[in-house]
Amino acid sequence: MDIASETVCIRCGKKRIFLKKWSEKADGKGKLLTYTQTICPDKKCQEIVDAKFTEMRERREMSEEKRKHNLINRKLKHQTTK
Ligand SMILES: [Zn+2]
Repeated sequence: MDIASETVCIRCGKKRIFLKKWSEKADGKGKLLTYTQTICPDKKCQEIVDAKFTEMRERREMSEEKRKHNLINRKLKHQTTK
């Protein structure tokens, strides 16, 4: 079954329309992945959803940065206590 035809908008529940499909290698390595992008037929709604996703991604990236930072700090602490 085509995934795009099953996708509904997370905000308004309208059936999302197919925008584009592309293939990309994961992490620049061998495995080729196919991505499909769908958008809400309601342009205003899509803008809100986009903003939400951007916010979520930024938040996730921020917490990942924090985690990396904590890990480095822990390592440094270990080294100094030795
Ligand atoms: Zn929508």
